[in-house]
Amino acid sequence: MAKPLNVIVAGGGIGGLAAAHVLARAGHRVTVLEQSAAFGEIGAGIQLGPNIFKMFEYLGLTEAVNQVAFFPTGLGMNDVRTGEKVVRVPLGDVARAAYGYPYGVIYRADLHQVFLDACKALPGVVLRTSSKVESFAQDGEGITVRLAGGEQLRGDALIGADGLWSRIREAVVGDGKPRVSGHIAYRAVLKREDVPAHLWSDDVQLWGGEKTHLVHYPLRRGELFNLVAVFHSNKYDEGWNTFGDTAELNERFAQAVPQVRELLGKIETWKMWVLCDRDPVKNWSDGRVTLLGDAAHPMLQYLAQGAGQAIEDAVVLGEALRFTDGNVQEAFQKYQQARYLRTGRVQLTARFYGDIYHAAGVQRELRNQMFQSGKESAGFAGLKWMYDGISPANLFDT
Ligand SMILES: Cc1cc2nc3c(=O)[nH]c(=O)nc-3n(C[C@H](O)[C@H](O)[C@H](O)COP(=O)(O)OP(=O)(O)OC[C@H]3O[C@@H](n4cnc5c(N)ncnc54)[C@H](O)[C@@H]3O)c2cc1C
Repeated sequence: MAKPLNVIVAGGGIGGLAAAHVLARAGHRVTVLEQSAAFGEIGAGIQLGPNIFKMFEYLGLTEAVNQVAFFPTGLGMNDVRTGEKVVRVPLGDVARAAYGYPYGVIYRADLHQVFLDACKALPGVVLRTSSKVESFAQDGEGITVRLAGGEQLRGDALIGADGLWSRIREAVVGDGKPRVSGHIAYRAVLKREDVPAHLWSDDVQLWGGEKTHLVHYPLRRGELFNLVAVFHSNKYDEGWNTFGDTAELNERFAQAVPQVRELLGKIETWKMWVLCDRDPVKNWSDGRVTLLGDAAHPMLQYLAQGAGQAIEDAVVLGEALRFTDGNVQEAFQKYQQARYLRTGRVQLTARFYGDIYHAAGVQRELRNQMFQSGKESAGFAGLKWMYDGISPANLFDT
């Protein structure tokens, strides 16, 4: 490496911390600016495809992740009104054999903590809370970032990992607000002892129906149980910390099979998220500034890949800087070039899968036929391009 860079990362979510970890491992100095008063993540689960476990291996984090993850036995899809099993894809050894890596699920806070610990273990990372990035300016020599309190920081490069409502994106891409999908997610986590045995499943289970679906799976070595109920609604508040309306949820799932209604009845308080995405773009960098994770390519959660794609971004960004010997502008161009088609494909395919899960009428019949044909279900063959993942070592060598 020519000379270590001084990199500023706006946002200390999973994407920002993954980027900080990757860059500090390569010897750069990284300052992470998080607007919240503490580093942390909301209590909910996320799924991690084999492509993300490939990244954990590359980053030397497999052991840390394995200690807190849960490895489901399969992915099941059922009809929420009839209980009919549409398809079940075995995971475990089958996923390992197909993709070389497992399929896991993890508590968001646990994954965030893995990256936080990994950052703290490296000398080059400064982690700052209550540090909201307001604006930035760049010149031939570097970048100046201005915080909400007026403080200014100088660096060689800025990475906007500031999520769906990214301020950095406003300046770099300027394509307005995210697209509100009209789909709402209600999320809750139960302790294992609060889930009756007949409702527990070691599979990731999806119950799909017209304009609704419920997903549930165990978390944290099987000590917790994650529930995500999604339905179409025009009611929403921006942000990650709004409480859901249980009466509306019950109304949406009134036609669901008894076990789904029983499970929903176990939750007293739901957290609500409005689900948004954007159309893919191919340019999310400007000189010494680039975007990463949801700031660059926010996607609906139907393929369970948003956090995973942010981690892949971080790895590719690190490789691009290595390949260009720390030439920031060139590295950021190479990074987005290597990423935009893959992340764009996930963004668009996720919309399609949302339609599939919420299908009614002919669309529902077609879905069942397609999934039951055996082609899709054989290790989710239609998503092989995604789960096969990227090969960091030779991304730019050709
Ligand atoms: C219902 C639901 C289910 C999902 N399920 C999955 C799943 O199964 N698998 C998966 O991989 N992904 C899943 N995702 C997607 C995943 O949550 C996101 O893609 C991921 O959190 C993006 O990480 P990020 O770091 O880019 O952004 P964020 O997690 O949004 O982090 C951004 C950080 O930046 C901070 N910030 C914002 N603005 C500023 C500023 N101006 N200055 C300083 N700090 C700032 C924020 O406080 C935050 O800490 C799901 C999402 C939803 C809504």
